[in-house]
Amino acid sequence: MKPKVFITRPIPDAVVETIKETCEVDMWHTSAILPPIAEKIGALDGLITYGHELVTEEMMDTAPNLKVIAVVGVGYDHVDADAAKARGIAVGNTPGVLNGTTADMTFALLFAVARNIIPANQHVQSKQWTYYDPNILWGYDIHHATLGIVGMGRIGYEVAKRALGFDMRVLYYKRNRREDWEAELGVEYTPLDRLLEESDFVTLHVPLTPETHHLIGERELERMKSTAILVNIARGPVVDSKALYEALKAGKIAGAALDVTHPEPISTDDPLLTLDNVLIAPHVGSATIQTRTRMATMAAENLLAGLKGEPLPYSAFAD
Ligand code: NAP
Repeated sequence: MKPKVFITRPIPDAVVETIKETCEVDMWHTSAILPPIAEKIGALDGLITYGHELVTEEMMDTAPNLKVIAVVGVGYDHVDADAAKARGIAVGNTPGVLNGTTADMTFALLFAVARNIIPANQHVQSKQWTYYDPNILWGYDIHHATLGIVGMGRIGYEVAKRALGFDMRVLYYKRNRREDWEAELGVEYTPLDRLLEESDFVTLHVPLTPETHHLIGERELERMKSTAILVNIARGPVVDSKALYEALKAGKIAGAALDVTHPEPISTDDPLLTLDNVLIAPHVGSATIQTRTRMATMAAENLLAGLKGEPLPYSAFAD
């Protein structure tokens, strides 16, 4: 009997075909309706999650045969990893492959807000560009500005490398200082408060943990420059969105770009959607053809190894 596997959203056909060689595959057909994981998990040997769907301890308790949960993505805060570990269920993720892609998107968001790209496009598309006006859509310089990287790990490192190409001064904050990166890139370690006070742009790259929940709240936003722009490409709950709304509305910071929100999707009546100094993307930080395909391939490699009882090539527990 082939092991039973559920994939929570469509992944590339070629990857599905590889899994089908040794497994009985059930793939949820759409991203528009949440996959019924709780209903299916009891019969599964392996699960691929591709959309941050919660996988809880209670679900695992109904799955005596479950050997592996393979996350398509690097953040695995939606899976109760401690409960999995306690039950001998392997958990894999896809670190590394999306570093450059997510760092590119960090800069895309930063540029879009700093240089008013969306309003500029709207100005033209709404046929308001009837004469050249040198006094509209002024933004903020990126070159020679100060960038503060909060949570400088794999993705933050790539962001720092890109920042150097724009002649930026780079500050970073994390729990463990990286003097080797300071020597290599010329980045400067600072406590979080100083980073917030001195940065023109603050980008967030921490994982979501109890410690980083609302890491950026009212107190932190108060410390930022009134001309500063915040980019959250980590996880929505890392920022207190109510405090962010108040800060943006009161002009305590100049703007924000969010690739992630809480909840996801953002509620249609979320007050953030009423502001014109915030840009929100639907969690597309790693969404390129090359990277999403590679992520699905890595998740399949994790799945197949876990089903055979072998160590996962990309284990979340190794972090
Ligand atoms: P990583 O290599 O593990 O880096 C995370 C960094 O955060 C590390 O430098 C870590 O350093 C720091 N950190 C952890 N807890 C912290 C805390 N309490 N205070 C300060 N710093 C802390 O992870 P990554 O691969 O760069 O990914 C980072 C996160 O980005 C993921 O967990 C995921 O949630 C998010 N992400 C989002 C997208 C997207 O599409 N929007 C795509 C990929 C990843 P220390 O341990 O020294 O503190």
